[in-house]
Amino acid sequence: MAHIQDYKQIMIISSDDNKNVESSNQLEAKETDFDKTFECSIRPKTFSDYIGQTELKETLSISIESAKKREQSIDHMLFYGPPGLGKTTLAGVIANEMGVNIKITSAPALERPRDIIGILMSLKAGEILFIDEIHRLNKVAEEILYPAMEDFFIDMMTGKSQATKNLRIPVPKFTLIGATTKAGSLSGPLRDRFGIIHRLEFYTIKELMDVLSRTSKLLDIKIDKDGLNAIARRSRGTPRIANRLIKRVRDYALVRYNSDINGQIANEALDLLKIDNVGLNPTDRNLLKLIIEKYDGGPVGIETIAAALCEDVKTIEDVCEPYLLQAGLILRTPRGRKVSPEGYRLLGITPPIMQGNLFE
Ligand code: ADP
Repeated sequence: MAHIQDYKQIMIISSDDNKNVESSNQLEAKETDFDKTFECSIRPKTFSDYIGQTELKETLSISIESAKKREQSIDHMLFYGPPGLGKTTLAGVIANEMGVNIKITSAPALERPRDIIGILMSLKAGEILFIDEIHRLNKVAEEILYPAMEDFFIDMMTGKSQATKNLRIPVPKFTLIGATTKAGSLSGPLRDRFGIIHRLEFYTIKELMDVLSRTSKLLDIKIDKDGLNAIARRSRGTPRIANRLIKRVRDYALVRYNSDINGQIANEALDLLKIDNVGLNPTDRNLLKLIIEKYDGGPVGIETIAAALCEDVKTIEDVCEPYLLQAGLILRTPRGRKVSPEGYRLLGITPPIMQGNLFE
């Protein structure tokens, strides 16, 4: 079996023609070619390069070691957590550690039954199929996946009307790795078919400094410890954001100072980008302000918030909210979102005396 040396060797499967292509063009539609090359060059490929998520790495190493000893494929896995925490990267690391190929696709690319059937039939024994945004799989695709995951066959109907025949086609023993930002939106039967389910956690400042230090070495960016700390603090616990910010700070240091990055330069650059010292951007701050000023601190429904901010609900739910919740700045209640006393204080507003049960 091929050992993956580089992420360029990973197959990305497109929706349109179901052909395997050698470069990423589906998962990150909004990225430029430069961004893709950048991503490829800095994505960790082994557990030792993959920073943080210590417990998860330990559990996975044991599963991988055991699968190797048994000479069997590893159990199907589901990773969930906000975007940019390393779910795709981890799937690549697992493939690399297992010494197998990985095919990457995302649920919206599997619209028609033949999309998913085509991919399943193209797999070789032991290979990993990675499906991003797996909560967006449609019912038909899910039903094709169930027997493939459980008993390694696909049920297919051939012929028309009375001549219809049910064909049972075997598929090689593969491992499905699903990733989602919304574990709760996954159907019960699909979730139950994953043997290993893990949530990825936000990264600590120290871990983000390690991510940034690694990235700076790979990209030959000179930065001191204060610079690493300043960027890590404002990266809202997310390696993808940290890696994006260091590029912007490098540009600023080069153009304004023609120098390496230090704490003062990093802070100036991030202030210019309007990212505050806890990592909130103008959208996050507007969200808090909106709830406080227009809705007396909440509760207010997510649709109302999204409409007022001219953002879509998905962006608010998947991108803004997880970090605001984790940082304790907003609270999710059955009647909508509320700003916490910390959220008020962050904006320099005295919190009202909160009455009753906060979670009402
Ligand atoms: P997700 O699939 O969860 O949206 P990705 O796996 O695409 O996130 O990770 C985003 C970027 O962050 C990757 O390019 C990778 O370089 C970096 N990254 C993610 N997790 C880690 C980690 N644990 N250690 C180092 N870099 C990481």
